[in-house]
Amino acid sequence: MRFRRAKIVCTIGPACDTEEKLVHLIRAGMDVARLNFSHGTHEEHATRIDRIRAASKVCEKPVAILQDLCGPKIRAGKFNRPKPEFPTGSTAFLVEAGPEPPQEDDVIPVQYEGLATDLHPGDRVMGDDGQLLMTVTAIEGERVKVNVISGGLLRDRVGISLPSKRVRIPALTEKDKADLAFGLRAGVDYVALSFVREAEDVRHLREICEAWGRPMPIVSKIETPSAIERLDSIIQASDVVMVARGDLGVEIGPEYVPILQRKIMHIARVQQKPVIVATEMLQSMVTASRPTRAEASDVATAVFEGTDAVMLSAETASGNHPELVVRMMSRIVHEAEVSAFYDPPPTAEGTGAKAIVAEAVARNACDIARDIGARFIIAFTSSGNTALYASKHRPVVPIVAFSPNEGTRRRLALLWGVLPYKLELMRDADDMVNRASSTLLANGFVSPGDRVVAIFGAPVGVSGATNSIRVVVVE
Ligand code: PGA
Ligand code: MN
Repeated sequence: MRFRRAKIVCTIGPACDTEEKLVHLIRAGMDVARLNFSHGTHEEHATRIDRIRAASKVCEKPVAILQDLCGPKIRAGKFNRPKPEFPTGSTAFLVEAGPEPPQEDDVIPVQYEGLATDLHPGDRVMGDDGQLLMTVTAIEGERVKVNVISGGLLRDRVGISLPSKRVRIPALTEKDKADLAFGLRAGVDYVALSFVREAEDVRHLREICEAWGRPMPIVSKIETPSAIERLDSIIQASDVVMVARGDLGVEIGPEYVPILQRKIMHIARVQQKPVIVATEMLQSMVTASRPTRAEASDVATAVFEGTDAVMLSAETASGNHPELVVRMMSRIVHEAEVSAFYDPPPTAEGTGAKAIVAEAVARNACDIARDIGARFIIAFTSSGNTALYASKHRPVVPIVAFSPNEGTRRRLALLWGVLPYKLELMRDADDMVNRASSTLLANGFVSPGDRVVAIFGAPVGVSGATNSIRVVVVE
């Protein structure tokens, strides 16, 4: 039986907008569906959420929904023509975007209030992920005059990067708050925040979710220079981190992306937080039916480095081969994981007397499983934390996480090596362990005589009380 350890996050968009297509994506390997709130209306997202839930039911596989909030990203407004070109060496003007497109052809409308006050001569401005590079030469009233250093085409609503030290917009914009209110009502499983600049941004989002009565695991997208300077505290404040390589490459330079990917992964490991590696992983498959060899290597590298999940963006949202690309990604991950070179780094050793009991129990269960050649670790978990601790220790065998809580099962779909499964809580630990092991047997995961290592809390049903390890021989 094949169990892929690293998980696959797929961005949902027009290319997979039927239940049938989503069923295909799930069967091909999608574990988490990401809804990008930079695009689409609430109505469209609501329909997508319903479809994802329906498809997940058809496949009998928990799929987490990740709501990705825009955050303080600045975009162009509407242009007066479809593909405006701004040639190298030309002069253009940045102007605050109004409701109507500008009349002049040399104007780039930007959705940012205070443009002419916040920018200064000498500042660098980029358009469309660094495709267009400009330098501010003068401020002329409300207009910012720029020299186009490296020209190209723009489109309506492309991202515009202003120097982040000058930008004054709150971490959560009014649009983000409205989107969040919608997402929480719709029952998303994770909320991601784009362009996080400091830990306070994450805490603020967490407080809002809690104040609205819906505590949420928060994914911090690392994509600004400011976040890179504060990795420790931001990761500490987050539940999950995303290496958002697209904007990171724009803001810091592509040559630093591989190093930052490793650095983020390292800190996340020490802090036992899951990691998603994102953007352009199989980019050429937006059109092509096979990835470049460099892309295949990139996915495998993230897996070798020990990522929890790899992400697809345009490949599944708007590409020509959403199902094929997920299948390809799943195969690349799987081949890396069964290769002789696969040795994902576990969490740092125990933190001494300060270790959380559940964490120490989970870590030791992983060692026992390896020592006795067990086939699985089974974790009984209502919050999911026990499964997270076991996952972060990167055991050699899969972790089957039994939870009575549907939300927990969906959230666990993101975690490395974790297979979420439904099991009602039972009062007696023996009954629960027996029921779980017969479930594994009935599903063909194990044969009589196989060993599994169970982690649970006794008495059963108290959240956060994991204190027991039991070796079970399947009968
Ligand atoms: P985005 O985030 O796709 O929302 O821009 C990911 C990234 O920047 O890599
Ligand atoms: Mn981004």
